[in-house]
Amino acid sequence: MKRKLFATRLALAVGLLLIFALFTFLLVSRSNQIAAAKRAQEMQIAREQQTAVVDDFHHRLLESAFALQARRNLIDNPVSPGVVVNKLRPVNPIDYVPAKLAKPEGVPHSGEQMLVPVAASAASQMYQDVRKATGAGFTICSGYRSYSLQKRLYDREVAEFGLAQGEAYVARPGHSEHQLGYAMDIMGDQPENNCALGSAYAATPAGKWVRENAYKYGFILRYQENLQHIVGFAAEEWHWRYVGVDRAKWMHDKGIKTLEELFELPYAPDYAD
Ligand SMILES: [Zn+2]
Repeated sequence: MKRKLFATRLALAVGLLLIFALFTFLLVSRSNQIAAAKRAQEMQIAREQQTAVVDDFHHRLLESAFALQARRNLIDNPVSPGVVVNKLRPVNPIDYVPAKLAKPEGVPHSGEQMLVPVAASAASQMYQDVRKATGAGFTICSGYRSYSLQKRLYDREVAEFGLAQGEAYVARPGHSEHQLGYAMDIMGDQPENNCALGSAYAATPAGKWVRENAYKYGFILRYQENLQHIVGFAAEEWHWRYVGVDRAKWMHDKGIKTLEELFELPYAPDYAD
């Protein structure tokens, strides 16, 4: 009897033990499942984060490459009205010739002054409007100048006035905005002294009108007073540079006087060598 009781108790204990073992097994495997699911989820999140980082990096890389390319097209390309040429930024290529040049229609000129068509028609329109407003116009004394013409002018100026004085007014060949076809030097209706440039025109009513309104036609006064440390040249009240109407208006409205400041370029007081 006693033995039977012992056997029953043993069976019960073994049974309980088995149930306990099974329960533990189920519990452990369940928590393993949960841990595995959690790990998988964490890995998924990590993968997504990594993808996002790579995507973001790639995106920014593309974006900056596009920005860089757009900037190059804007300020390096001699065809662009936003191109910046100064003592540190030669025309590229150095012997660049605009594909097309046109005479500013109806505007008196001292010779065969041409500009790229968009600048020529802007000059033409400005001429008509200044005549209407003031009764006086202007003469274009210099427009497009080839590399070789610029070289002749430069050599002559330096021979006559010496290197320092000569270089203060005439750009080295390949460093003149005139080679772009986007710049014109203007004087009054009847330029005396064979178009010798001076500040007399700027003081006339027509000259003042041009100074106040040129931006509406896309022109900026490229070399203004006290900015030689930025643009490299002393003030030239006759040198108007076409940059496009929107850009000229933007610069006018924001009070930005130089292309170097507009595009946050290094100041160019002097040549690199
Ligand atoms: Zn000029």
